[in-house]
Order: sequence, then structure tokens, then C-alpha cells
Amino acid sequence: MKFTDLGTGEGIGANCQLLEIGPFRIVVDAGLNPRETGNPSLPRLDSIGAEPDAIVLTHCHLDHLGALPVLGRLFPEVPILMSLPSSMLAPRMLHNSVSVMTRQREELGLGELPLYTHGEVERLFMRVIPLKFALPRFLDKGGDSLEICLHQAGHVAGAACVEFKWGSERILHTGDILFDAQRHLAGAKPPKGPFSVLITETTRGGATRPEGFSREDETMRLLETIEKTIARGGSVLIPVFALGRAQELFCILHESRNLLPKVPIFSAGLGLDLAEKFDEITRKTGLVRFRSGVLRDLKVQILERDLRPGRSPRQGIYLLSSGMMTESTPSYVAAASLLHDAKNTVCIVGYCDPDTPGGQLMETEPGGDFLFDKLDYQTPLEAQVERFDLSGHADREELLAYACEAAPARVILVHGEEASRQWFLTELEKALPGAAVLIPEQLRAYDLPVA
Ligand SMILES: [Zn+2]
Ligand SMILES: [Zn+2]
Repeated sequence: MKFTDLGTGEGIGANCQLLEIGPFRIVVDAGLNPRETGNPSLPRLDSIGAEPDAIVLTHCHLDHLGALPVLGRLFPEVPILMSLPSSMLAPRMLHNSVSVMTRQREELGLGELPLYTHGEVERLFMRVIPLKFALPRFLDKGGDSLEICLHQAGHVAGAACVEFKWGSERILHTGDILFDAQRHLAGAKPPKGPFSVLITETTRGGATRPEGFSREDETMRLLETIEKTIARGGSVLIPVFALGRAQELFCILHESRNLLPKVPIFSAGLGLDLAEKFDEITRKTGLVRFRSGVLRDLKVQILERDLRPGRSPRQGIYLLSSGMMTESTPSYVAAASLLHDAKNTVCIVGYCDPDTPGGQLMETEPGGDFLFDKLDYQTPLEAQVERFDLSGHADREELLAYACEAAPARVILVHGEEASRQWFLTELEKALPGAAVLIPEQLRAYDLPVA
């Protein structure tokens, strides 16, 4: 096979890869780089060249999905394959992107925004082919056939590992993957090896989990932190990805609702809309466990619009996107009204890119200055900032164990900071001495013949 990383940006960046397997040319994902806005956030779609045979989406986070309408515009005839739950979630995610980009056009004066329109999103989904998990689909070309099969990847609703079979080649792309079950979603069920090529995410390669770690203990610690903060008269902000983390946190709060202090829970737009979608996916496919009754039981309220920097809002639990506190999102605006007061707590529960406000907040010393650039407001960090490991990504030891079990001839390391990929490179070279391990350079086509 041939592999070309069409992504842009350092670290996780805009995910998009061209896989050439025999005569078949497949594009996996078309995301936007969360560290950029407008054209610089796009992957290098111009480097795809001739029309691909199919586009496959691993899941609906925007670093994988956000550029799909632009890719679709370039190749209007190419079929787009994704899991059934992803096909139900993706339109909502993309329509939200159009709205965000339209706002940014005014705020930032970027004439290229929005990168696509609501109409294009609607038309795109007329040629999406929803796939069932573990049910192979065949692409045919000139008497040749490529088998494509999606497997549940945990991570978020609809997330898939993608398996390709062509002749003696068997390739697995993990996408973003979580082996642990979450309250609302089963864990990953990737196929067993051996593979000729394993393309694996490496998000958590930079850190190990402490001895004796358990997701349940982390959840308990989070609930205790909420209780303590409310008891001293403060509010809690939990920045979450609207897709996945938000619904998981709703489930956690719901489970403990009788023990939680009686303060309102505030949320906003997309996380709540997606909760309705999750309910529909639960009813129609059984692949998610989330009912919208959870929101009713918790009496979730829509975030008040009059939050001001430096002025404490109503006491409550603020469960808001974005997870990385990206500028101008509800979690960013809420943080600006909470950080000045030592009674409040910000609970970081997922991955934060170091270049985003969430990542910067984790690096800020207590009492140090924190700048909300977009709000032209700076405050000493008085609130507590606590980190909880409820990540949607498999930890590095689990991924390493899976890679070893899968016994691939080649491993391609994607979706991680440089240090994370380096950790995997070193460990895999030790653990799989026969395998060729690759950290791909962007835009370089690697020819990887079957060994
Ligand atoms: Zn993801
Ligand atoms: Zn991702």
C-alpha cells in the first residue's frame, strides 16, 4: 500500500490520510485543525490528486469530520462511508460548524468563512452510505475488489476502526479508540491481527497512568470535588466536548443525582442537541445507552447569556463545550466569569491541546495571570483547576498491548504530539523487533510493499 498524511498542523492537527491499496484510492477522514481558523485549518486536499474511490469517516469529532464538505465539493461523485450512528450525528456537527464559522467571519474578518454552507451539508448527506459495524462492504474496480469493514472503536458514539482487506494485505486504521466502556457507550472491539499494516492513534503516548488508576476512582474524585466546591459557595465549570464527553458527564451526574448538592446544572446548545440525537440512536440502533430523560431528571438549564468576565454567575454546575475552552465558546466565556474567585473550580476531564486556552489554563500557576484574549480580559488565577483522567482515548499501555497482539508487519503512528509518537516508536521497536514503525512526514507518499 501507499500512505500519505494530508494533515496540517503540529500534533493532532487536521486528520486526513490517503491510503492507496492496490488499485484503490481511499481518503480516511477530512478534519479541521483545532489550532487554526479558516483556510489554514484545512488539510491539504489539493494533494489527493485523481478522484478517490471512496471517502471513509472514522468519527464525528471535528478534527476528523470538519473539512468533509470541502472534500465532498472537490469530488462530488465519490461515495462517503461512515457508521450508521455517525451518519446521524455528522449533519448536526457540521451545521453547527457552519454557524460557528459564520459568526467568526464577522468577529475575525475572515472572508473565506464559512468554509461551506448549510445547503452543502444537506447535499453531502444524500450520498453518504451508512454502514453497520462488523458487516463488510465491497468496493469493485476493474474486476478487483476491496473489502472495507467498520468495527466499534468506543471513544464516541459511532466511532469506528476501519479494516481493509485486499489480496493478502490486511490493514487496520484504529481511528480514535477507547477500550474502556463508558456509561453511555461500549468499549472498542477491534479485530484481531495479524495485519500487514496497523495505523494507530497515539494521543496519550506522552503520559502513563498512575499505578492503581481506575476510571471509577476518578469519577468519585470528580463528584467529591463538585460537592466541596458547592459547599464553600463556589461554582464548578466542566469544559467538555459537545459530542461524547457532555453526554457521559450527564450520565455520571444523573447516577449520583441524589447525592449531589441541589444547585442548577447549566449547559448549552450543541451538547444538548446531541443528547437528543443520542436518544434517537439509542432507540433506533441500540449502539448507545443514553435517554433524554436524563436531562429532564437533572433539570438541566440553558446557560444564561449575561455572563460577564470577572463577575460570578449564579452558583451551579456548568457543563459546557468546548472541551479545550476554545475562544468564544461557552466554556471559555464561563471560565472568564469564574477564574477570579478562589471558591470556584474548573474540572478538566479530557484531552486539551497545549495551544488552546484549556491547555494554557493547565499550565498556569495558581495566582498567575490568565489572559482571555478574545474578551480583552486578564485575571489572576484564583479558582482551583483540577485534572481528572476521564479521557476518551485508550491509554498508551493498552494501545501498545493491542499493537503487539495485532502483530503487524508495519505500524504507522498518527494523531499525537511528536513526543507521544516518539514514545510509541521506541516502545514498538523494542516490543516488535520485526516490524517497521513509521512516524509519517506530512505530504510525503510512503510506498509500503507487503513484506
Ligand atoms: Zn475523536
Ligand atoms: Zn481526534
